[in-house]
Amino acid sequence: WRVSNYSGSHGGLSDKDRIFTNLYRDGDWRLEGALKRGDWHKTKDLVQMGRDWIIDEIKASGLRGRGGAGFPSGLKYSFMPKGSPDGRPNYLVVNADESEPGTCKDREIMRSDPHKLVEGCLLVGRAMSARAAYIYIRGEFIDERRNLEVAVAEAYAKGLLGKNASGSGYDFDVYVTHGAGAYICGEETAMIESLEGKQGKPRLKPPFPANIGLYGCPTTVTNVETVAVVPTILRRGSDWFASFGRKGNAGTKLFCISGHVNNPCTVEEEMSIPLRELIDRHCGGVRGGWDNLLAIIPGGSSVQLMPKDICEDVFMDFDSLKAVGSGLGTAAVIVMDKSTDVIAAISRLSYFYKHESCGQCTPCREGTGWLWMLMERMKEGDAKVEEIDMLWEITKQIEGHTICALGDAAAWPVQGVIRHFRPEFERRIAEFQSKNVQAAV
Ligand code: SF4
Repeated sequence: WRVSNYSGSHGGLSDKDRIFTNLYRDGDWRLEGALKRGDWHKTKDLVQMGRDWIIDEIKASGLRGRGGAGFPSGLKYSFMPKGSPDGRPNYLVVNADESEPGTCKDREIMRSDPHKLVEGCLLVGRAMSARAAYIYIRGEFIDERRNLEVAVAEAYAKGLLGKNASGSGYDFDVYVTHGAGAYICGEETAMIESLEGKQGKPRLKPPFPANIGLYGCPTTVTNVETVAVVPTILRRGSDWFASFGRKGNAGTKLFCISGHVNNPCTVEEEMSIPLRELIDRHCGGVRGGWDNLLAIIPGGSSVQLMPKDICEDVFMDFDSLKAVGSGLGTAAVIVMDKSTDVIAAISRLSYFYKHESCGQCTPCREGTGWLWMLMERMKEGDAKVEEIDMLWEITKQIEGHTICALGDAAAWPVQGVIRHFRPEFERRIAEFQSKNVQAAV
């Protein structure tokens, strides 16, 4: 796995416009290197500009959450109460539980540029009137956690965090805590439960975390990348960030491209870059050439796959991908060439969701198992044609009928493969039946 196959300019986005300037590990990830790269520069002034200014800047920048949902970040911060009107403190929770199959962008930030995240916690925390941030990091991320803990300790030692953080007069603490390998703990309310020491099971909403979150206090959960870009946006200005990408899809973005490309990589690029350009420029193209492309999943495993004819010219942003029935998700692009058994690939994802379901709600607990069992039979063709519709119907019984989005995430990949590859299902069923007839004769 490479961080970038590009040397020199690191691609279409020029070096001067990259936020994660150490993503390619050209320099030192610790405080000394971070200071040289401009992190923690005049942080005191930014904090002292106050909550409303930070929120207005983030709104004007057009930043949308980088964890998958794409909700406008400035608006999200504004939902938090100002100060502590009823005596309860506000909390920021940073979702570093990156477990979406194909996704490895937050990991790169935490091990190569952790001070961007730590400084971002202070500034985003200020915007939320929060007094502390809890970074919840995936249990398997051992090196990343170590780097993050070192970065937090360095920040405390320099007075950048803690009482009078960065000399701003604002008190702010950062705690790093780790999960134990459950995908569902990436769901915001399951993460809050886990932080409280309980089983990571999602809560019913409402109440929403901005009202009753961690320890019953107002809380906002937000993704690593979203927090880590905030210091640079505030320093360089909202106009600068908004100048990248298309309207409603602003900024630069980390993409992680895996699967059947010549050089899989994680790369920072301009939002809305065409998919083909992204892959050709940074990954050396599809293995065997573009004519060999079968399909891609553009945003981690929880969005629908797209066959070649749809995906080739699509822009890599929230709105373009939604318009073609998929989504940007975590911007983890999984490329499948014609050697892929697409039904087996999606069946493997079905197993993943069945395994990771917390089991609280019946449509998800039972439905994900049914999806996997049926997909396994479809893989062999050992099914009836009518069962393709039954499979579709099960996805519809799960979608929108569960406590959290894991149910939808399990349903959508199966819907995508039926929508775009139904003839392949039918071909396998016919072939299986014909083999059985021949065997009987
Ligand atoms: Fe648990 Fe699945 Fe229900 Fe989410 S949808 S709460 S993972 S059973």
